[in-house]
Amino acid sequence: MQFDTRLLHGRAIQRFANREILPPISQVSAYRYGSMEEFEKVFAHKSMGYAYTRIGNPTVSAFEQRINELEGGIGAVCCSSGMSAIMASIFAICESGDEIVASSGLYGGTIDLFRDLEKFGIHTVFSHEPDEEEIRSLITRRTRLIFGELISNPSLKVMDVQKVSKAAHENNIPLFVDSTTATPYIANPLSLGADVVIHSTSKYINGGGNSIGGIIVDGGKFPWDFDKYKVLSGFKKCKNMALLVRLRTDIWENLGGCMAPMNAFFSYIGLDTLSLRMERICKNAEALAKALDGIEGIEVNYLTLKDHPYHSFVESELRGYGGGILSFRAGSRERAFKIINNLKYACIASNIGDVRTLVIHPASTIYIHSDEETREAAGVYDDTVRVSVGIEDQNDLVSDFLEAIEGSK
Ligand SMILES: *Cc1c(COP(=O)(O)O)cnc(C)c1O
Repeated sequence: MQFDTRLLHGRAIQRFANREILPPISQVSAYRYGSMEEFEKVFAHKSMGYAYTRIGNPTVSAFEQRINELEGGIGAVCCSSGMSAIMASIFAICESGDEIVASSGLYGGTIDLFRDLEKFGIHTVFSHEPDEEEIRSLITRRTRLIFGELISNPSLKVMDVQKVSKAAHENNIPLFVDSTTATPYIANPLSLGADVVIHSTSKYINGGGNSIGGIIVDGGKFPWDFDKYKVLSGFKKCKNMALLVRLRTDIWENLGGCMAPMNAFFSYIGLDTLSLRMERICKNAEALAKALDGIEGIEVNYLTLKDHPYHSFVESELRGYGGGILSFRAGSRERAFKIINNLKYACIASNIGDVRTLVIHPASTIYIHSDEETREAAGVYDDTVRVSVGIEDQNDLVSDFLEAIEGSK
């Protein structure tokens, strides 16, 4: 089965009780049982069943299982947001005194979260490039996690997952990859060597810009050293499932960041058209990048452009696609604002992965609280415009940008 077919007819597509084609929305907080004996078995994990939506919900499970299949995991846990997924995945293995090695150019919220974690005794060091050598040089005996994004946004640096995972594994450390900007349509980090893949489903997976959500998918191959990962030591019996069980029955459940059933339903429907949307989005993004490339005073950043420093990864890791995000530098903040304001179709919004083209000036919004060093490491300059390309007509989209740029002189 090819990806586009697996998306709609894979193993993970469940049969529902009343033959519904889509998962019924189990919009309840709790489930009712006929006897205490029956209910006790559910709590003791001796029989399958739902008890309380924070702990498990059938609509959410239906969505989890599909993403898990598309990423090739052994199980997945949905969260209330991408940030919640990142936090739960870190708390599942790290404790006070531990260190994280993270690649630079991460999502602004993730950088802020790592800063918050300092107060909990979890220290993060950042590499400048998502490459093996630099990451390897930052590993200490306290490092418990390597964290990176497959395609960083808007800097568009691509992590060499094959090499970085090798460096991580040689040190008995897992690699967690946030693959939000790539989506399973473009890449499967687990098959490249990552141990856990995380998505903000709010973006391309949902696709319609209608619900916040996140997911953690466990590849199930990392050989946990239970003396080193003490927070997992109670889950020794679970072996390669230890991380998933720790999440499901412990930290994720207790943090309380579950996905709402309605959001799972919306994202489930969104996922149905992932292939179609990504195909169109990537085509549009490439056409727009090519159209802007070479315009005087405009410096375009898009992965499939021939001179892009990460161009070679398009074939080796990204199935030939450049993704839906491009950015360009306009020469000055004033001109960047002018271009954005001139656009007819692109919505000014702080999101990515919508069917509509979205545009933003990151320095004055998402990165407004970051210092200059952090911003520039993330590829955000005073004149950077980020575009999350949508599925509009290619020619309309290109003309809109060309006219907006022409009118900004
Ligand atoms: C948006 C985003 C997040 C955070 O996800 P939310 O659903 O907004 O919490 C994390 N990582 C990346 C790469 C993102 O784009």
